[in-house]
Amino acid sequence: MQIIDRIYIDGEFVKPHGDEYFDLFNPATEQVIGRVLLADAQDARDAIAAAKRAFAAFSRTGKSERIDMLKRLHAAVVAREDELYEAITEEYGAPVSRGRWMARHASDVLAGAAKVLEDYPFTRRAGMADVVMQPLGVAGLITPWNSDAGFICGKLAAALAAGCTAVIKPSEMSAIQTRVITEALHEAGLPPGVFNIVTGRGDTVGAEISSHRDVAKLSFTGSTAVGKTILRTAASTLKRVTLELGGKSPVVVLDDANFEEVVPLVIQAGFMNSGQACIAGTRILVPQNRLAEFESRLRDEVARTHSGDPRDPQTSIGPMVSQKQWERVQRYIRIGIDEGARLIAGGEGRPDGLQTGWFVRPTVFSDVRNDMTIAREEIFGPVLSILTYRDIEEAISIANDTDYGLQAYVFSADTKRAREVASRIEAGRVLVNTLAHEPAAPFGGFKQSGIGREYGTYGLEAFLEPKAVIAAA
Ligand code: NAD
Repeated sequence: MQIIDRIYIDGEFVKPHGDEYFDLFNPATEQVIGRVLLADAQDARDAIAAAKRAFAAFSRTGKSERIDMLKRLHAAVVAREDELYEAITEEYGAPVSRGRWMARHASDVLAGAAKVLEDYPFTRRAGMADVVMQPLGVAGLITPWNSDAGFICGKLAAALAAGCTAVIKPSEMSAIQTRVITEALHEAGLPPGVFNIVTGRGDTVGAEISSHRDVAKLSFTGSTAVGKTILRTAASTLKRVTLELGGKSPVVVLDDANFEEVVPLVIQAGFMNSGQACIAGTRILVPQNRLAEFESRLRDEVARTHSGDPRDPQTSIGPMVSQKQWERVQRYIRIGIDEGARLIAGGEGRPDGLQTGWFVRPTVFSDVRNDMTIAREEIFGPVLSILTYRDIEEAISIANDTDYGLQAYVFSADTKRAREVASRIEAGRVLVNTLAHEPAAPFGGFKQSGIGREYGTYGLEAFLEPKAVIAAA
């Protein structure tokens, strides 16, 4: 049983002012494995004050100094990678390969930001003006539980690269992972106050960060509902806001696709991160005249998909993060059945042989209409919908008929055709015949999937404001 009773303010591990303890669970066993003492609004204010003090000097550091700091942070996180992996498995339940990827991703994003910074020109000419890209100030970084260390490090890396200081509010459900990552980041020996980490509730610590006048920038990853609250709160002080929110990503399978190659990719896209992924491909669009063939291949593929013990290398779907999340997913499966969709794999309850743990059966519905709840709302679990289309026009129309627009996938034997379809899809990223991640490219959503972009130069500029200096010759 781990007791976590320290937050990180001004370069030190301090006891929070808050007095509420929150239980931490192993989602594979439903056992309480730790307790975290939560920060409160006073702690958030202390962290913001520390970040504000540090900003004066940090914002004037040069590129090479900041690159050096990012490299030190990178090395420090690499050094704790195994411990981080253990925490991810125990507290989040990520299957082996996903957990390993997540633990590595946390350090990769720090190295990535150092690389972006190397080539980034902070000053450009516009007519007779020098346009200087200036750091915005104190950045509030609010992150979810579905990739704790990756989001903390990714947002922090971009903020620091820009010359901003940071107050980070991770999800209260990921406190063990946050402890490992905080200790790692501390080892890098950055000046006190440059980053502060306060684990607490969203409606206290998160709300304080979103409303505080000394926070200039908010970068939030989480649900669309909370994103809207944050945007409203931030409006009163006109903070710059980046919102990375939910998704209901279409997977457009064109009529010439080779199902043998494509179906395994479709399943990976849908069930990635145990289905708890904002970019999961959850609406699978299949040509009507090949539906039976597609369903048959997909059934075989799902039958090979193992949902269970995250430490078993055969497992590709681990447990849902919490009982609440498990119940939410179960509720959506029931809604799908009640709305008349046809189950072709999975269904309600746990996978066979499992009595405990927040495990879900890998579930696929067919005969789904795009106006059904399961096609419109983000489920955030391994539950997929197959919809059919008659021609490409209809496929594109269904793909775009959603409130979301984070990511989309197109599969075809003809890349040119697939690219044409991709060009008409309203989403921040479209993956054509691949599931690859490109860290140099922007990431973020159209429509209600968010505002702004992360990663690469776009992510860096989200923490910068242009200032034009026009001087007499
Ligand atoms: P959530 O919105 O409930 O919480 C996210 C964070 O916001 C947490 O740290 C939470 O404590 C905090 N928060 C809650 N209320 C707040 C408030 N009033 N003010 C300030 N902060 C507040 O989301 P979650 O359940 O942790 O994560 C799942 C959601 O995140 C899904 O909807 C998923 O799609 C989304 N997500 C999006 C991306 C992306 O990059 N677009 C990536 C991962 C997850």
